[in-house]
Amino acid sequence: MIFTVAIDGPAAAGKGTIARELAARFGLGHLDTGLLYRAVGAKGGDPVASARSLTEADLARPDLRSLEAGQAASRVAAIPEVRAALVDFQRAFARRPGGAVLDGRDIGTVICPEAEVKLYVTASPEVRARRRWLEVGGDPDRVLAEVRERDARDMARAEAPLRPAVDALLLDTTDMPVEVAVAAAVARVAAALGG
Ligand code: C5P
Repeated sequence: MIFTVAIDGPAAAGKGTIARELAARFGLGHLDTGLLYRAVGAKGGDPVASARSLTEADLARPDLRSLEAGQAASRVAAIPEVRAALVDFQRAFARRPGGAVLDGRDIGTVICPEAEVKLYVTASPEVRARRRWLEVGGDPDRVLAEVRERDARDMARAEAPLRPAVDALLLDTTDMPVEVAVAAAVARVAAALGG
């Protein structure tokens, strides 16, 4: 079976939770594509060379979830050659036998426009910053500023900017409990598989 679920949206909107639930429920492979950009940013040196030589070990670094790694990721993610170096791996994963869920910023628009299911998961910057702050701690105002800065950079860049695919199901989790968002995503996937 070739079957792709593409999940896009800004940081801390709930993409990862939904992706993991769908993968477990339907037995699909899961790729958190943000990790690729975080690993490139964390490697340092020339980002294009780092993207071209990325290894499994780079993806297993323990420091990839920090705010700093997120900022570094969003800076290298604006470089077209970095994105180009990561396309083939993501496309191959998306179309792997058995089906796949990928979450990121450009999965439904650029990496896999032919995905059978597309979701765009979002929430207000304040709610997303609070969720991120509960994970990483520190100064809440700084966390909100980082969320806004990363949103602005990811949405304004020329190459593969963050935006919903025209045929994506929109899930705004600002006031929506995560179980409700997961249930809506499960229903959409089940319908696509059934059809
Ligand atoms: O999703 P996550 O917060 O881990 O992503 C880190 C950064 O990587 C994002 O802010 C974005 O700049 C970049 N990214 C991207 N395209 C993707 C996934 C992540 O540009 N498909």
